[in-house]
Amino acid sequence: MSQLRPASSDQPWAVPEEEPIVRIDNVTKAFGSTYAVDEISLNIHRGEFFSLLGASGCGKTTLLRMLGGFETPTSGRIYIDGQDVTDVPPYLRPINMMFQSYALFPHMSVAQNIAFGLKEDKMPTPQLRERVREMLALVQIEKLADRKPHQLSGGQRQRVALARALAKHPKILLLDEPLGALDKKLREHTQFELVNIQERLGITFIIVTHDQEEAMTMSSRIALMNNGRIEQVDTPRRMYEFPATRYAANFIGSVNLFHGHVVSQENDMVLIHSEESGTDLLVHDSQPLSAGMEVTVAVRPEKVSVREAKSDEPNNLSGVIKEIAYLGDVSIYHVELPTGKRVQFTQSNVQALAEQPLTWGQEVCLAWNAHSCGVLTQ
Ligand code: ATP
Repeated sequence: MSQLRPASSDQPWAVPEEEPIVRIDNVTKAFGSTYAVDEISLNIHRGEFFSLLGASGCGKTTLLRMLGGFETPTSGRIYIDGQDVTDVPPYLRPINMMFQSYALFPHMSVAQNIAFGLKEDKMPTPQLRERVREMLALVQIEKLADRKPHQLSGGQRQRVALARALAKHPKILLLDEPLGALDKKLREHTQFELVNIQERLGITFIIVTHDQEEAMTMSSRIALMNNGRIEQVDTPRRMYEFPATRYAANFIGSVNLFHGHVVSQENDMVLIHSEESGTDLLVHDSQPLSAGMEVTVAVRPEKVSVREAKSDEPNNLSGVIKEIAYLGDVSIYHVELPTGKRVQFTQSNVQALAEQPLTWGQEVCLAWNAHSCGVLTQ
């Protein structure tokens, strides 16, 4: 999975004395008996590209709307730049929101759409013209300034909405599924542009998305939500490599999960007996675990490799290839173990076509390293 953000980006969340730009303190939002957001606490830092990620109905839009001031929390407080804004209306918050529908004014030109908020603020004309020009250049639509929204493609409308949302130089930009209306190729291209623009301006972006690849690609950090609560807040890399829960492991990417119980733990090496894998599993994990504890071992398909022969060591198993999905750059193989459990592994298709590929019905020996898997207790 690719990531557009340079690995060297600052990590302000790791600095304890750094004051977050957004502090969500124990916020709940109930609609009748539905708890859309359930006691969430979260800090977001200056200059972050922060994603609220989760399945439909998990509460991410409600949380974003509370940040924008379009919903009021049932309980809890929201602070922006140290100020309690829980009861402050949207137009008085140093925030702007880009709606999923883009909500452009159909009767106004592109330039007029971008200028709208500046006019409302009574910005002097020369300064306003300069700001509109700057925004048109930022999103590279100078040539479209006089067109009306219905004369634009979906991608161009998205740029106008972004330019309009950024025109007032908000401290924070909230984006609700900003790429939802674009096709796959354009989405990928626009992800790249959004990250570039955000880094250039240094504005904090908070984005709602249900698309895990999009969140992984663009974000400094991701909050994975489930049922109104937060499962995990982490960098994309840590979220993928060290999921905190079974839900997180399953939501981000593909994963093989083996249920079992702890036999022993010595020098951070955990031995786990797993009936369904048909072998013992060895995992490098430093969290304290006790013998007999029920756990799940998580192994990503790309960490599983094919071996010449099966060994009796832990993390070695064999089975029969039942399904193959050829995706061009990689193939995904589904292997059935003698226990009936299915295991997925991937192989990149680097070999020439003439080489003998793995086929359906073939018996294969699989193994992985103790450092390439993790123990989940929740
Ligand atoms: P999606 O990706 O489908 O937009 P979401 O994660 O953004 O989903 P929310 O829109 O925040 O989810 O909704 C969370 C829960 O709150 C859902 O069960 C939804 O039905 C409920 N909900 C949201 N808004 C309202 C409302 N105005 N009145 C009643 N229930 C609501």
